[in-house]
Amino acid sequence: MNENEVLQRIFAVLEQYFATRNEGVFVKYTSPADLQKLLALDEPGSEGDWDRTFKWIEQYLEYGVKTSHPSFMNRMWAGANMPSMLAEMVTALSNTSACTYESAPVSTLFERHMIQEMLDLVGFVDGEGQMTTGSSNANMIAMMCARNTAAQQVKQQGLFGQRELFGFVNGEAHYSMDKASNILGIGSDHLIKVEVNERGEMIAEKLEAEIEKVVRGGGVPFFVAATAGTTVRGAYDPIEPILALRDKYKFWLHVDGAWGGAAVMSDRLRGKYLPRLAEANSFTCDFHKMLGSSLMCNILLINRSEHIFGKVLAAGDGSYLFRDTDDTEVDDLGNVSLQCGRRVDSLKWFLDWKYYGKSGFAERIEKYLELCEYAEQRVQAIPELELVSERTSFNICFRFKAPENCSREQVNRLTEEIRTRIYKKGAALVGLAYIKEHLAMRLLVTNTNIGIAEIDSFLAEVVATGKDVLAFERGRTNVVRAFPAGHVAERGDTTSQAQSEYRKVGSGN
Ligand SMILES: *Cc1c(COP(=O)(O)O)cnc(C)c1O
Repeated sequence: MNENEVLQRIFAVLEQYFATRNEGVFVKYTSPADLQKLLALDEPGSEGDWDRTFKWIEQYLEYGVKTSHPSFMNRMWAGANMPSMLAEMVTALSNTSACTYESAPVSTLFERHMIQEMLDLVGFVDGEGQMTTGSSNANMIAMMCARNTAAQQVKQQGLFGQRELFGFVNGEAHYSMDKASNILGIGSDHLIKVEVNERGEMIAEKLEAEIEKVVRGGGVPFFVAATAGTTVRGAYDPIEPILALRDKYKFWLHVDGAWGGAAVMSDRLRGKYLPRLAEANSFTCDFHKMLGSSLMCNILLINRSEHIFGKVLAAGDGSYLFRDTDDTEVDDLGNVSLQCGRRVDSLKWFLDWKYYGKSGFAERIEKYLELCEYAEQRVQAIPELELVSERTSFNICFRFKAPENCSREQVNRLTEEIRTRIYKKGAALVGLAYIKEHLAMRLLVTNTNIGIAEIDSFLAEVVATGKDVLAFERGRTNVVRAFPAGHVAERGDTTSQAQSEYRKVGSGN
């Protein structure tokens, strides 16, 4: 086979996969041990063998997860927009790095165009932006800009001998904040998790109390991140009172909109969830989550930046790579990136943006919100189900109602068991997360193939599976075998304790 024939063959394989990607079960569940055998990872003799190569490709597709399938309700992303999938193919076949204009002229202009479009959309003035590898890194870069603004010498001297810096985040903020504080030398003890209310929103008065404590101790409150849509509960931190605190304490206000930042697309939802976003210092949004670009696709924007990227991020001698000549008139984007080689992500976002436009994305997320409202109403109406936390935006955290005499650990185990069974059947993949001590299934609608019928059948599956599990429990004497140890650690409880408690209920009912 010559390379053109190989290309024809892969297109045929992909066409076949694509045509059936929403049919059947969303995953052919196979245990890691069985899959290991099937894949024949150590099989010798594959050199130069296209047939063998194709066999692995077909296995990859066969045993992988079909993420655009309506049963895939688990992650903050699903499937992908068609224009961005085309972009991925083009990017893969043309393979270049978006670090310089020289190596990526079109991509550089697309990226610069999209940065300006998004700055204008958000309302940031004289700003800068960059596409990063995701919100985890965008959060870190925002924290880094804040750090170097608060401690001007840090780029040269490090944090040695500086006043102590403290950052503040929602108590349920994404774990990337902890990683960022670790990487940047802030330290997790200096990342204060602010108490949230019963809806999961940061309490501004508690934030001020924490800041006061730090100031009294001689520390510097350098960074506050308001989360716009927390990962588990979808809570939006109140930007307005935090802005008032910024006036007083002069910290950097970053808005982590990885998940719920997509609300900027809809004027109606923006007014509700992101008031005065335009006054924050920085903002990040993952286009690969609610907006459906293919992974990874993210933007970080800085307000009134005064060329902060260059001051904070540019470092070392890149003269072998970067050009500063008149004839390009375009700064190389790679100069202020954390990476050297940069994947071309701009093509995806540019094509998606041109194809759907702001109004198309607004319509999409408004529809998602309507479906979430519907799902919430159904959970409240179905007697076997209950919400674990009030829905405030896009996330529905719920569970199957356990019999009244179950302990918290038993309820958690039941939730996990139901979710695992549904997954292994290939019926649905739904997220699982703790809210305080309570395990909840987290239903997310980020899939354009999900409508009312899919939500109904998913909830019916949860109810039926829940009933099955309970009936099974009642009929067994050895409940421990029926209920193997949980895959997630029980909080504040050992597995054996939880198991013995379950045994009691299992035989008691
Ligand atoms: C998903 C998420 C992140 C991390 O984003 P990645 O692009 O996966 O790195 C950060 N913050 C919040 C609130 C998120 O939901």
